Amino acid sequence: MNGPLMQVWEGFLDLLYPEGVNCCLCGDRIRRRHTYGICPDCYDSFIFIRENSCEMCGKLLDSGRLCSDCRSYVHYFDRAYSMCAYHGKVKEWIYSYKYAGRSYLAGPFGRMMADRIKEVRLDKSVDCIVPVPLHRKKLRQRGYNQSRLLADVISGRLKGEKARDVLIRERNTPPLSGLTRFQRMETMRGAFKLKNNGVVDVKNVLLIDDIYTTGTTVNQCAKVLKDNGANCVYAFTLASGMNI
Ligand SMILES: [Zn+2]
Ligand SMILES: [Zn+2]
Repeated sequence: MNGPLMQVWEGFLDLLYPEGVNCCLCGDRIRRRHTYGICPDCYDSFIFIRENSCEMCGKLLDSGRLCSDCRSYVHYFDRAYSMCAYHGKVKEWIYSYKYAGRSYLAGPFGRMMADRIKEVRLDKSVDCIVPVPLHRKKLRQRGYNQSRLLADVISGRLKGEKARDVLIRERNTPPLSGLTRFQRMETMRGAFKLKNNGVVDVKNVLLIDDIYTTGTTVNQCAKVLKDNGANCVYAFTLASGMNI
């Protein structure tokens, strides 16, 4: 969705779910305008990730600077961040966002992500925002790419490049949940390529995705971008798995 269309879409969502009337997550009445149109109870369900995280992949950490994954494996991306932990009610909301047609949640989720992106000054480091693509079959079934909607909201909040569909998903990969790290890597190998076999004409890319588990998906995207001329690839996801 391009800029003007996105504004119309957001305006439409504001009409449907005006901030300060009902919580967009639980539907409860909000007495006063509350941040992101989310009631205090729902807002408190988010475990936001800040300093308490791995300095490489951005996952929550109890102690230390790097998680065990990042001590053992080299990633193609330069740094990944997540807004919150994939946990409790947040899991249900993301599930409903992806699979139950609640695409309007891209609004509050994307705005929350954009604020965090500004906090860590990632917006100053990138020239381009690229959503992780869905395979065309899945896109047809679902009707929207949840990562693309997030990237659109984020780019609308950051004064810079618009989200660009630089990548395509060439293979319709099965869901990765329940697979081991090795199985995930095998499944995702070669799943992405550049659109139109093009060359990346931007140097520093911010990849946007919904969930970071072992990082296989953003890692494969980063590999394609770097193999084709990108300099730095950062990833920002809505949520990342705990204890994985
Ligand atoms: Zn609520
Ligand atoms: Zn890590």
